[in-house]
Amino acid sequence: MSEAPGMQSPIELRPAVEGTVDAMDLRYDGGRFSVVSGGPAGIALQPVTSLWMAKNYRRYELNDIHFHLPAEHTVDNVENAGEVHFVHVTSAGLIAVVGVLIAEGGSSRALEEVLAAYGAGRGAQTTFDPRSLLPRSPRRFQYDGSRTTPPYDGVVAWTVFESPIEASSDQLARLRSLVGEMSRPVQARGDRRVTLGS
Ligand SMILES: [Zn+2]
Repeated sequence: MSEAPGMQSPIELRPAVEGTVDAMDLRYDGGRFSVVSGGPAGIALQPVTSLWMAKNYRRYELNDIHFHLPAEHTVDNVENAGEVHFVHVTSAGLIAVVGVLIAEGGSSRALEEVLAAYGAGRGAQTTFDPRSLLPRSPRRFQYDGSRTTPPYDGVVAWTVFESPIEASSDQLARLRSLVGEMSRPVQARGDRRVTLGS
């Protein structure tokens, strides 16, 4: 599939309409991950065991977790320091990505675990619960878009949490040195609706 105009990601997430967003049941317990690299998103964590998300009566398998620096989605035109993507896909090829914005602030214990695994290099394994990378507030934006890495295909069912998590400037600098600067600029929203709810 090629790049579809008017359906691209990332976007500015406001204005958003208050409404009902899909329930997400994250079955991430006992997550064991392997560090992989060389994909379109660069270095990433790939589950060794099956982790999945129930959404819209579908089972979305967690394919990988990766980071973008700076953040890709903006809220009120604020560009955060980073963004983590949880990429899920169904057996029929439907894609759902959950995004969490990262603001510079206090140190993140969850990110420290990721940094330790990334630092150990490709093939390194780590056990951690990806839910530790989610913000406390469940409020989230929902819209349809695309992947933000080549070939920018989709449709991707996007969920981006409204509240960012925090990471220290030192952690962000270390993450940047491992991941590099890789973020797609904000794309035209067209007539797409963004829903905000919890
Ligand atoms: Zn991504």
